[in-house]
Parts: sequence; structure tokens; C-alpha cells
Amino acid sequence: MDLRDLMGSPDGPEQPICSRRGCSEPATFRLEWNNPSVHTPDRRKVWLACSEHRVFLADFLGARGFLKDVLPIDDRG
Ligand SMILES: [Zn+2]
Repeated sequence: MDLRDLMGSPDGPEQPICSRRGCSEPATFRLEWNNPSVHTPDRRKVWLACSEHRVFLADFLGARGFLKDVLPIDDRG
């Protein structure tokens, strides 16, 4: 059984949600990052961010040297 069958999403694919703790805004950006002490160099972890938290999360990752890329989410493309 697919988990989405239990959630009853009304229409279309589920909306990506911001990864910031406590935030439930729709995500409009994806932040790709890599922790070189844990991940192999080609590995990419992804955080999703709403427009409000994009800078916060990018700063968090950037300060640690983890941030690789910030990309707009565009499911309609
Ligand atoms: Zn957010």
C-alpha cells in the first residue's frame, strides 16, 4: 500500500513542504548539500525551503561549507 493512499491528498502530487522545523509552508526552493565528513563527494542531500526560510537554511549550510546548490522548484516545467 502506498502511504499516500492513507493521506487522501485531494488532487495531484503532494506539495513539497519546507524542511525548516515548525514550518509547513510550501517549498519553492531545493537546497542541495553535502557533508564531506559523512558523505561521499558525489552524494547530495536535499532540503526543501519556502521563500522565507531559503536564506536561513542556505546560511546554515553555507556557514559549514556544506551548501552545493540552491535551485528553484518548478514542478510545472
Ligand atoms: Zn519555511
